[in-house]
Amino acid sequence: MKIGFIGLGNMGAPMAANLAAAGYDVTGFDTVAAPEGLTLAKTALKAVEGAEIVITMLPNGAILRDVAAEILPAMRTGSILLDCSTVDVASTRAVAEVAAKEGIATLDAPVSGGIGGAQGGTLTFMVGGDTEAFEKAGPLFDIMGQKAVHCGAAGNGQAAKICNNMILGITMIGTCEAFALADKLGLNRQAMFDVVSTSSGYSWSMNAYCPAPGIGPKSPSDNDYTPGFAAALMLKDLRLSQEAAGDADADTPLGEAATELYRMFVEDEGQGAKDFSAMLPRFEGRGRG
Ligand code: NAD
Repeated sequence: MKIGFIGLGNMGAPMAANLAAAGYDVTGFDTVAAPEGLTLAKTALKAVEGAEIVITMLPNGAILRDVAAEILPAMRTGSILLDCSTVDVASTRAVAEVAAKEGIATLDAPVSGGIGGAQGGTLTFMVGGDTEAFEKAGPLFDIMGQKAVHCGAAGNGQAAKICNNMILGITMIGTCEAFALADKLGLNRQAMFDVVSTSSGYSWSMNAYCPAPGIGPKSPSDNDYTPGFAAALMLKDLRLSQEAAGDADADTPLGEAATELYRMFVEDEGQGAKDFSAMLPRFEGRGRG
């Protein structure tokens, strides 16, 4: 199967490399990056020539729309555009509509698992789009990841991703502020973890990714908050959740508050390159004023 792969950054390059290593005929294109060991095309149009599946891994919805407008008319009828980027639901659905007119199926398949997951082929895909295309892309999901969940129609993969990450941002903030409060109340962090991780306050943020250094399983907090999952990426996903909530008229007060906290952390305080769990040292140093 011939695959075109557009967007060879931190995530796209290792995903494309895994497909090539599995024997697929992969041609990549990126406006800047030129990773070694991959067959590269000089233009996006060249990369998609004759491809049965075109995969995109791009920074945002505006770029996805531009790239789609360029390549869709050149793609084969009956081929599939598989977008693995995290973008806004509206852009995903707009691209799906244009593609359908060209006789091309689309799948929105944002991932969780980060750069390590992309390198190790252990990503989780949340997928929107038609069932037949999902089944055709199955072998590729198996190589690039460990799990692909079909979430329904176009845009539902993005919807699942931003809802999940909105919960994650909120629970991480809740966990960090509770640790900072516990400190001030004289409660030992290990005792706090031992109680909460086995009580009703437990969550992935506490149990699997504890923001307190030296407590719980190994996590970015044990490595001076080197990501992991950078606060800047959490802010991106929270903003997408609030954009979607605005479009859908959904009331998300905690999502909104989490977005504002990560905005201050990233933009006002310059901490975007730190792991998103570095909210704990932020709360630690603050009082109510
Ligand atoms: P990145 O910035 O490293 O890579 C994006 C690549 O797209 C860059 O190499 C850039 O040159 C290229 N690009 C931009 N415009 C282009 C165009 N018009 N044509 C061709 N290439 C173009 O970003 P990344 O970390 O690889 O993330 C990619 C996507 O995956 C984003 O949507 C991100 O939100 C999502 N994501 C990232 C992570 C992570 O941990 N990095 C985790 C989950 C999801």
